[in-house]
Amino acid sequence: MQPDSPYPHLLAPLDLGFTTLRNRVLMGSMHTGLEEAEGGFERLAAYYGERAAGGTGLIVTGGFAPNEAARGAPWMKTFSTPEQVAPHRLITNAVHAHGGHIALQILHTGRYGYHPDVVSASDVQSPISPFPPTPLTADGIEKTIGDFVRCATLAQKAGYDGVEVMGSEGYFINQFLVRHTNNRTDDWGGDYANRMRLPVEIVRRIRRAVGTDFIIVYRLSMLDLVDNGSDWSEIEELGKAIANAGVTIINTGIGWHEAKVPTIAATVPRGAFTWVTRRLMGKVDVPLVTTNRINTPEVADKILARGDADMVSLARPLLADPQFVNKAAAGRADRINTCIACNQACLDHIFEAKEASCLVNPIACHETEWNPKPSAAPKNLAVVGAGPAGLAFAHVAADRGHQVTLYDRADRIGGQLLMARKVPGKEEFNETLRYFEVRLAEAGVTLRLGVDVTAAELVAQGYDGVVLATGVAPRTPDIPGVDRPEVLSYVDVLGRDVDVGRRVAIIGAGGIGVDVAHLLSHVQPAGESGPRYLTEWGIDTDIAVPGGLHPAAERWTPTPPREITIFKRSGGKIGSGLGKTTVWAHRIILERRGVQVQTKVQYHRIDDEGLHYTDAEGQDHTLACDHIVICAGQDSHRPLAEPLEAAGMSTWIIGGADKARGLDAKHAIDQGMRLAAQI
Ligand code: NAP
Ligand code: SF4
Repeated sequence: MQPDSPYPHLLAPLDLGFTTLRNRVLMGSMHTGLEEAEGGFERLAAYYGERAAGGTGLIVTGGFAPNEAARGAPWMKTFSTPEQVAPHRLITNAVHAHGGHIALQILHTGRYGYHPDVVSASDVQSPISPFPPTPLTADGIEKTIGDFVRCATLAQKAGYDGVEVMGSEGYFINQFLVRHTNNRTDDWGGDYANRMRLPVEIVRRIRRAVGTDFIIVYRLSMLDLVDNGSDWSEIEELGKAIANAGVTIINTGIGWHEAKVPTIAATVPRGAFTWVTRRLMGKVDVPLVTTNRINTPEVADKILARGDADMVSLARPLLADPQFVNKAAAGRADRINTCIACNQACLDHIFEAKEASCLVNPIACHETEWNPKPSAAPKNLAVVGAGPAGLAFAHVAADRGHQVTLYDRADRIGGQLLMARKVPGKEEFNETLRYFEVRLAEAGVTLRLGVDVTAAELVAQGYDGVVLATGVAPRTPDIPGVDRPEVLSYVDVLGRDVDVGRRVAIIGAGGIGVDVAHLLSHVQPAGESGPRYLTEWGIDTDIAVPGGLHPAAERWTPTPPREITIFKRSGGKIGSGLGKTTVWAHRIILERRGVQVQTKVQYHRIDDEGLHYTDAEGQDHTLACDHIVICAGQDSHRPLAEPLEAAGMSTWIIGGADKARGLDAKHAIDQGMRLAAQI
């Protein structure tokens, strides 16, 4: 405890005996894609160096495979030869230069690997890889343990302070632990003592090889969320065994990658899984780390104060803001750029084999490219539109010394974010708005809100240039009757809180159609402030059921308040533009709430009887409905572009005003900041 500190539990050092971590923040492992990129180690050194400079206690790298079969994909890196040590030194030197500690994660993906040479405990194929695994022989297991040990000793040579053995999320080690994937009958299968032999041997032999003064973190799967996973007695037994085998710290893993339960998405409440780690507190004599959806210092400090864990793992929040710890320590949590749990630029990129970054902080993983210098010729600039693109541009341009005036016809900043934050599970956008408010004030941007500025006024003010971030206009489809009063735009529902009736048709099944369906099908149990996340997903908080999931019949399923049908003209599933890591959960939620989907439809008209359409089989229907909500995409909105250009004003167009796809906040923020760095 640090009594005078704003977050006394979070910022307290942690004495490991042979070394002391400067606080209780562990940066959780995240693959970035830089591991495989040209010049990637220089970029990783800058990336981790910044997080160390920001005060992070212990950083864990993205996973490195101990041998070829262990790789997640053919292009991924192993760490298995002495020749590979030198580039890793760039990383360890950068972190140590800022007083941080860093551990290398050893990751064997087992049957999750996306290549033909995958191995596992048995031949049970994973639902998320097309490649059936080859069961390892007993000799193969011995050799693999040796490869883990070799990787740990190479990490030690490279200057790492320790390693993390990845034993969770359904990867190789997890695959040996549970009957779900291990049907062996030899010394590595059968009863639990045999199934847990692999992690215990890995830890024991790593400890023997690296000596006493080296951190070994073990990521223990404490809640598998798959059928036939571990139950609590097994988890506790493994925790004690690996502590005895020589781990320094036990980190928590929640949910296998194939689990059909969202565990880190924005719909998951903050700190939703710290109760899991707490179950092991006091049962083992090593510090425990808790994880998942911990994104503010307040939340983190409370978790530690109530004794749920000894440390917190923040992965995405440190992508979003490398200075998280320093800002918390300075009592300026309001300056933190908070992770909104969208996954859009981090995990979604990795699953698309692209480099990771961050929606709210596009500099993440691009640290070496980002060096906006003070402007040599400061300009007097107007920005029209205080949505994500305009906000991102305004604060960076003002930081560089430009004089920036930001106009918006609304009386507060935010643009489309003001609507997005109303969708249940997207409340984190409020944090982004708070961050931008603080940044604009710090950077000295002049705000002109509630002003519908004209081109003539902008010209008369004598600006050197105008940045148009005027966003989008919702598209109105050409359906007879679309102008009737029961036809609403998504802006009426999300932006103007119009009361919507019981029978609803949604035209358009993109991200906004899905958002509107979420909002209109959402049930907030009376007297409760938060979502019933654990019961809605059937999570067994006793972890008595192996894997920790109750049967479907025992899940809490709310009675939907409306009958909703989503329509689209194309085939395929709803939400097709949404990220791979979250869209499946949206589809499950809406299906459970009884939301109907009609694809390959043709719209005919809207009249007193309702919406007339032809379905995929060519059958004509009329859906009686109280309201029809149009979510048919957008067109760019830039009415000032022509008059400004005609007046000879230097003009730049960004965000949705540039391309309607810029409605996507990731693109808008990135484009705004990049322009501001150059202008
Ligand atoms: P969108 O993804 O382009 O979807 C528009 C929908 O409208 C499609 O289903 C399309 O389906 C339909 N449509 C298009 N033109 C139509 C017309 N003339 N008549 C009838 N239907 C029409 O647009 P959006 O949902 O507005 O989303 C905009 C952007 O924001 C997207 O990039 C989206 O991914 C992003 N977004 C992201 C999130 C998130 O959580 N990550 C949330 C919301 C939005 P058919 O052509 O098949 O009918
Ligand atoms: Fe968090 Fe989204 Fe950034 Fe990922 S992209 S770190 S989830 S804000």
